[in-house]
Amino acid sequence: MTIAAQPGIMDIALYQGGASKIEGQAEPLKLSSNENPFGCSSAATAAVAKAALRMHRYPTTDHAALREAIADVHALDAGRIICGVGSDELLTLLAMGFAGPGDEVLYTEHGFSMYRIFALSAGAEPVVAPEKDRRVDVDALLACISPETRLVYIANPANPTGTALDLAELTRLAEGIPATCLLVLDGAYAEFFEGYDGGAGLVDRFRNVVMTRTFSKLYGLGGLRVGWAYAHQEIIDVLNRIRGPFNLSSVALAGAEAGVRDRAFVARCLRDNAEQRARLTGGLNQLGIACDESHANFVLARFADEAEALAADAHLKQAGILVRLVKGYGFPEALRITVGSAQDVSQVLDALSNFKRTT
Ligand SMILES: *Cc1c(COP(=O)(O)O)cnc(C)c1O
Repeated sequence: MTIAAQPGIMDIALYQGGASKIEGQAEPLKLSSNENPFGCSSAATAAVAKAALRMHRYPTTDHAALREAIADVHALDAGRIICGVGSDELLTLLAMGFAGPGDEVLYTEHGFSMYRIFALSAGAEPVVAPEKDRRVDVDALLACISPETRLVYIANPANPTGTALDLAELTRLAEGIPATCLLVLDGAYAEFFEGYDGGAGLVDRFRNVVMTRTFSKLYGLGGLRVGWAYAHQEIIDVLNRIRGPFNLSSVALAGAEAGVRDRAFVARCLRDNAEQRARLTGGLNQLGIACDESHANFVLARFADEAEALAADAHLKQAGILVRLVKGYGFPEALRITVGSAQDVSQVLDALSNFKRTT
């Protein structure tokens, strides 16, 4: 007898994050991880510095102050909010709590690569539904549901496509999913989709719908690791039993609370993202590079083929710009480019215009 991991674990390939270094470039322009080009709220930085003076104390276990702040800002019931170490932790706890050996976890063809990892970590079987024109296809998803399906993950807006389902389509999806299966609406980019509540309204209507959100993208706090979920009380109760009592540090709790309350910073970032996203999309189209309308803080730029995408990536690297290769998501011909500041977008468009002229 030797030690052996649980079935499924060794099928997990390590997650590949966005690149952060270019050989010979001291300060590359990093547009590979959908981070906020303006950093985070200065109120968050100040709160973190202040909390650091008291970090010999254990943090709270109930995250009450942060949950209250989130509930205030989003007009939700704080009792049905749970906070985690990034939304990743909550997404994985959902799989652990509700799926296991013999169960199926469903997501879509170009869905976030972590969904497969969450399914396998829980010992469940990952099942992949096809998409249609780089969009989640509600009918195809529903057709893949079996009596064994316990969890469906979709990101809305989706990563890496930036496409989104409207509320009518999401509602149709929620209505079609059996009561024995959870629909997890991953709202990592929800704020960037104008007029969308991240699925909070659907959570209130359907007992089996869960919404997850993060401080990593819009709030510029990816390094702090804070996310949250909103769901029916009985789902929150399950997650609270399996999360670590001290999962969030006092420093992280303080930073996220100050961040969520700084609405002026958020409004500024959203305005700027919408403006620069339109500029980036328009500029790419002018260069003959196709992209769908994005509802997130990145754009999926599609080239003629894989060779051209790789050549464009190499050219951007030469210009000191890091973007994301998305072959692993089923898009060998594309690059995912985070929407940066006005200057960042100009730099990308200049480099790609140069690339198109010289190749
Ligand atoms: C970035 C991202 C997340 C969340 O990340 P955390 O930093 O763990 O909150 C979740 N889902 C998608 C689709 C993402 O792109």
